[in-house]
Amino acid sequence: MPSSKSKPADSPIQNVRLSDVLHQSRAQRLIQQSLASDRFPHAFIFHGPDGVGKETFARGVAKLLLCESPQVATDSADSGSGAKDSCGSCRSCTLVDAGNHPDLHLVYRQLAAHHPDATVRGRKALDLGVDVVRHFVIDAVGLRPTVGPVKVFIIREADKITPAAQNALLKTLEEPPETTILILVASAADRLLATTRSRCQLIGFASLPTEFVAQRLTELAEGVDSERAGSLATLAQGSLGRALTYAQDGFAETFGEIASMLSGLDRMSAAKHSKRLVEMAKESANHYKSRDKNLSDSAARREALGDILGAMATWYGSHLHIASGRLQPLPGVRDGMEPEVAARSIDAISDAESRLSQNAHAPLCIDGLMFELASVAICG
Ligand SMILES: [Zn+2]
Repeated sequence: MPSSKSKPADSPIQNVRLSDVLHQSRAQRLIQQSLASDRFPHAFIFHGPDGVGKETFARGVAKLLLCESPQVATDSADSGSGAKDSCGSCRSCTLVDAGNHPDLHLVYRQLAAHHPDATVRGRKALDLGVDVVRHFVIDAVGLRPTVGPVKVFIIREADKITPAAQNALLKTLEEPPETTILILVASAADRLLATTRSRCQLIGFASLPTEFVAQRLTELAEGVDSERAGSLATLAQGSLGRALTYAQDGFAETFGEIASMLSGLDRMSAAKHSKRLVEMAKESANHYKSRDKNLSDSAARREALGDILGAMATWYGSHLHIASGRLQPLPGVRDGMEPEVAARSIDAISDAESRLSQNAHAPLCIDGLMFELASVAICG
């Protein structure tokens, strides 16, 4: 029988109430409107960039729905007065915080390792397949809540639910029992089938302000001073989750190396730099794989290359910021690059990103990119 008790509590952020999720005022407003209306939707898709608080927010919603004495805020900056929130101290809130409320079901692809069928357990959990969705969601939805008024299912990385599993889930999304709420958390809602999307209320989440990410980084990551936090926050482009990963992986050093490569780039050095970038991606992919043993080599490499290309685009982008008179946010960025050169370089990087997303051969693709960037730098 599916039970959240047998699973480890695995969220790094505990003790969070809905109102603690900052800089997502639109999501706050939409959820409060839903709570105030007669018909609270039974299925949601929380979508937006990774690491901006979607899952934390979903846990906050679950905690409120399960709370034994919900509170009403008299004043709340993000969600307005009258906003509902959990009390944070009842038995139910305590269970949610401890990660073992029996009516809060966190569903993620690695649960395959807890599936009763040995064949499913033996597979690498690259996506959320039909076996996992059937066992941990569809079958579990039919059971009564154990202690609370409702059961809440939070499905992490919902854009990795396979089409077959989404089709199996359609009926549940359309007509869940009165006592069931499903929250699909996805980085890109458009990767879900239209039939899935149309059965859910979509709530979009935005990137976080860089200053906020930098400040949280100094609080959460060990040994990160405010200067480094500022650089990492800029590189993470509004994602606290990514900034924390970057801090953990020493990405500030990686960025320093990328910055010095790009500032001295010419046709002679392009091939050498290209080789080094591919090596760096391999090193970085190992970090990803050590955090997620189910990640395939190619997916880890793709994530890592994405980080590196993103950092390159940010480096060129910083020159645009200087040119437009905005604050210089990154070390290794100097005045003097023509905005036209920076803009064309960013275009070239974005082309390389889309070629890679179509499974282009990575070393060839990076080679081509570095030569193009060198040509742009020389000819303008
Ligand atoms: Zn409570």
